Amino acid sequence: MPRISDIQLPSSVYTLYIDGSFLPPSSHPVSSMAYVWTAIDSDGFILESHYNIISSIFPSALRSEVFALLHGLDSLPPNSKITVATDCAQLLSLWSSHVNAPFIPRMLKEFNHLLWSSIRAIKSHKNLDVTLIKVPAHADDTLNKHVDVLAKAAHTDSHLSSRPSLELLAPCILQFNSLPVDMNIRKFIRDIFDAKTLLTLALLPRFNSSSSTSDIDWACTKFCLINDKQFVSHRNGRSEFCGFRIKLLLDMLPTLTTLQRRKPHLYNPSWLCLQCNSFPETLDHLWTCPYILPEFSPFNTFKILLLALQTNYLDKFLSASFLIPLLDSFAAEFMALDCWDCDPPSFSCLRLARGLILLSLTEFLGIYFSSPTIWSILDTPLHDFHFDLYVQIWLCRSIFFYHWESAQGITKKMKLSALDPSSISRTSFNIPPDSSIPSLATVFLDSWVSWVSSSIIRGGSWISHLDFWRRLTVQPLLRISFW
Ligand SMILES: [Zn+2]
Repeated sequence: MPRISDIQLPSSVYTLYIDGSFLPPSSHPVSSMAYVWTAIDSDGFILESHYNIISSIFPSALRSEVFALLHGLDSLPPNSKITVATDCAQLLSLWSSHVNAPFIPRMLKEFNHLLWSSIRAIKSHKNLDVTLIKVPAHADDTLNKHVDVLAKAAHTDSHLSSRPSLELLAPCILQFNSLPVDMNIRKFIRDIFDAKTLLTLALLPRFNSSSSTSDIDWACTKFCLINDKQFVSHRNGRSEFCGFRIKLLLDMLPTLTTLQRRKPHLYNPSWLCLQCNSFPETLDHLWTCPYILPEFSPFNTFKILLLALQTNYLDKFLSASFLIPLLDSFAAEFMALDCWDCDPPSFSCLRLARGLILLSLTEFLGIYFSSPTIWSILDTPLHDFHFDLYVQIWLCRSIFFYHWESAQGITKKMKLSALDPSSISRTSFNIPPDSSIPSLATVFLDSWVSWVSSSIIRGGSWISHLDFWRRLTVQPLLRISFW
């Protein structure tokens, strides 16, 4: 059987004091996990102490404690009867559910299940008789203090020769990019698909045709689209609105320009916006059409809605809990962000209207607020803004469009019919084809592998590791080893 520890304790060992120590990334470039154990004989003499640091995978304080137990047990001779003293109460309860109980598949949903499986394997292989006891964390237990000091010292000890082998003893180990998946496997696989989906979305040519995608906060954009409570519910006639939001984001709304490209035999490519008859009716033109009726003016409506969105956001951020106190200039700087420039609309403004959250916005807010605060504040007003665009501009325009189509003799049946063969030759005529050459300079097709790998090594959700994306442009990519 392979071993994790290269130490073999004598059979006189009676008690093990174990401890772990965890330094979060704030004090180190990456988090650091250390473990220690001290072996005592029946007279209370120290036989041996050992400490070291562990490879940073799924970093947590608990993992360092579990590893201390694993390494301590693996250092014992076979058939030992041992008492393990720890000040970590959680270790005791996990011991009773993960080791002193029959294996159940539910264990695979827990963090560190590979470590626990290894502990089970060692205990059974060595026929160990183990009792865990809890020592008070800050009481006058000299030996507990001793291991506590050693665990903390391990982080800075430069004399540590080699880390213990990552060779786990679990019967089945799933690896991702050579990293063991020591967390809920089902959730991990879902994360992989989420990460790939986000990347696929970000790589669509429609986001790349006019500029790079690196100025979009994809994590926040995805949050605002998917967190939509209406999104999952197709009741109350909201499904059309859900479809609208997605098509808006993907530039798939059936504007005249889109229809001209899809069915040039029905929609003459030379036709301009039916309302103003001055510009092609593109997605962006929906909001900027200068057509004015007493009751209906798309551009004016858009400007009013955008201003309301800006005001709504500002109110919410002014009353949100902040990381650092807001400067007096906060409101002025927020309002000066170029995504609010709507007359004429800036490129950022039109992207925001599509539901693409810009990094310039979230990075500015990130000075003062945590990401969860920013995301949850941006979410609902954007949903409402889109609902207003939908009702006040898109539906009005669509009713108008419907009547116009009827007047032209364009029927539903004609729209559903296949392309008129005689028109194929002019499909690419007049209308520029979709610019389908994505600017991939900043994005790699397998960026998702590094997001997920980074979340394993540094902890937290993969979505908080999207910045890796940009750093990776100058680094050789990690390769997929297993997946
Ligand atoms: Zn127009």
